[in-house]
Amino acid sequence: SKRFRLDRFISGKLQIPKKQIRPMLAAGRVRVDGIIARDMDQIVDQFSHVVVDDITLQQHSAHYIMLHKPIGVVCATKDEQHTTVMELLPANSPQDLHIVGRLDLNTSGLVLLTNDGHWSRQLMSPTQKIPKQYLVTLKHPLTPAYIEAFTKGFYFEYEDITTLPAELQILGPNRALVTLYEGKYHQIKRMFGRFRNQVMALHRIAVGNIVLDENLQPGQSRPLTKAEQDYF
Ligand code: URA
Repeated sequence: SKRFRLDRFISGKLQIPKKQIRPMLAAGRVRVDGIIARDMDQIVDQFSHVVVDDITLQQHSAHYIMLHKPIGVVCATKDEQHTTVMELLPANSPQDLHIVGRLDLNTSGLVLLTNDGHWSRQLMSPTQKIPKQYLVTLKHPLTPAYIEAFTKGFYFEYEDITTLPAELQILGPNRALVTLYEGKYHQIKRMFGRFRNQVMALHRIAVGNIVLDENLQPGQSRPLTKAEQDYF
């Protein structure tokens, strides 16, 4: 997101010369995200909450949305063939949203969208190791050997990596709950592929502490609650 020095930001917003900003700061008239700001070199971005004498100079507001992605809808902003997740959002949605972690065309479940690049970068950062939970339906029955293999990791030749320890919980003969701490291309399908087992259905139910709302039908979305947003 765009970043500005505080004096430049205020001067632009209030249409007053930059040199008038220093005394305003010294007088304690400016607050950034609720804290009195004294330093004109402080960096703010488009989502910072800047207040001068109780007047908010906010540039832009941040939006966070969860969507129940249906099968057959593509995680892209534009597509010739398929409906995109963007096209499922209400018409009055912000135009600058991006997708936080894509799902395959034939995968359903939780997709997050935001216009806050800082938030999505944190959520997707490999060092954060945010857990992602998937319900998986398989063609052939599962055995306890799968659990061990998912924990140990699989070597992916194309990327030259070994997958991080993942959790597999057997829910039924052909049903599992899988938790990944990363997201490689077609990762779950490739992991089960090592057992010559085929993923028949894949549904994401959670990303970190954000759980797909059971009240959302496929194709429906809602804004995240404050608690859900406050992940970062
Ligand atoms: N693993 C997959 O194979 N596909 C997804 O969409 C997500 C995880």
